[in-house]
Amino acid sequence: MGGKKQLDAEALLEQIFYYMNSLVNEKDFKKTLLLLTDMGRILVNAERVSFWYWDKEKHQYWTLVASDTEQLTVPEGSGIVGATIEGNEIIVINDPYKDARFNSKVDKETGFLTKSILCMPVTNTAGEVIGAYQAINKLDENGESNFEEKDVKRLTLAAAYSGKTLESHLLYQAAHVDALTKLKNRRSFYEYYNVELAPVLQEDVASIVICDIDFFKKVNDTYGHNAGDAVLQMIGRMLQERVGGGEAFRWGGEEFVLLLPKRNVEQAKQLAEEIRQSVEQAVCHFEDNDIPVTMSFGVKEIDVDCNVEANIEIADGRLYKAKTTGRNRVVAED
Ligand code: GH3
Ligand code: MG
Ligand code: MG
Repeated sequence: MGGKKQLDAEALLEQIFYYMNSLVNEKDFKKTLLLLTDMGRILVNAERVSFWYWDKEKHQYWTLVASDTEQLTVPEGSGIVGATIEGNEIIVINDPYKDARFNSKVDKETGFLTKSILCMPVTNTAGEVIGAYQAINKLDENGESNFEEKDVKRLTLAAAYSGKTLESHLLYQAAHVDALTKLKNRRSFYEYYNVELAPVLQEDVASIVICDIDFFKKVNDTYGHNAGDAVLQMIGRMLQERVGGGEAFRWGGEEFVLLLPKRNVEQAKQLAEEIRQSVEQAVCHFEDNDIPVTMSFGVKEIDVDCNVEANIEIADGRLYKAKTTGRNRVVAED
């Protein structure tokens, strides 16, 4: 690998301002992180810079790959990223193959040769470590070189901004996504309705479906609350898979809403019927039980002259009718 000339002070400033402008205008979370790592690479003249997010649920770290949206994951605790995160300390290593903490597996898999590493922990507002910002292979005009204290200083702001970006993404997710089913929640429903759907309702038809698991209390009473949770997760996955160009939301408890752009009442009714049948045919395997599930559905083509609440009220009335006329059915008229 050849050397790479360091930018002079003016060229470096120009680069910093370029990235600052791009960052201010970038709203996408992943693109923001990629800009921040790209900026770091130029600030310290490194061959690679990456941001690692600690997924505490899945016990792994993941990073974004610049060329596409693919994520690379490694198990929690592994390598220098693991040492940085677990020790909450900055690690600089200029001879990684002689360091026991270094995991050469990724090098072996990718044909890359790591020669120097600078890895910084990234914390949230509460001071908890949420990830790491890592630069690899410091370069100078003559080829490889060593990371120094100066490089740590140069990367501090980009690393901290990465942390803020990740934290705000996680807070947004927590506010908009239901933790159990991973479906969007009721708050997301109103945002989607007002921002995405309402503006096109004058030209395009759309429908709303409200559905509710039948006798769900009995599932909890018979198999326990965790089994009930497993049923909700299964239904969440099925709705997400089958909603097509629409959106599925957990409305609350064991009730869900589908918003279906470009579908009239007949098309929405047909989709609801398909979902009803697949729920009826599925069973939820939980521990030693196969739990049967059915759902009832109320369908309403959205009336543009009525507000969202009025449309929901009518769909809800139809769901009620489905419940009172035997459950496990779709009702699309009053
Ligand atoms: P129906 O067919 O009339 O809808 O009867 P149902 O038993 O499904 O309706 P009901 O409203 O009587 O009971 C809903 C139950 O859903 C009660 C509540 O404890 C349970 N539930 C709500 N949220 C959750 C959850 O997140 N997990 C679990 N396991 N149960 C939940
Ligand atoms: Mg129910
Ligand atoms: Mg209910």
